[in-house]
Amino acid sequence: MSGSVPARDIGGVTDANARAVERIESALDETPFCASCNAHTVVVAHDDRLWLVCATLQRPATGIRGLLTRLVAHERRLVLSLEPEAAA
Ligand SMILES: [Zn+2]
Repeated sequence: MSGSVPARDIGGVTDANARAVERIESALDETPFCASCNAHTVVVAHDDRLWLVCATLQRPATGIRGLLTRLVAHERRLVLSLEPEAAA
């Protein structure tokens, strides 16, 4: 009974982290591009949640171009909630 290593600490990746990475990768796999403008999608953290969003939404909306950008329904969906023990 010696030298036991907690399985969760292998490589510094916890189960929760591994799950999060899996969710992010599958979200990007499912929706690599925005259906509205064909820009690539990115995953961003916001309010303890991870969102898959169109990269266009990450740019500052200024001028006519910015206004037009906001008129289109770009890709934006929840990938993962980082809140602990979210009740199903
Ligand atoms: Zn878009």
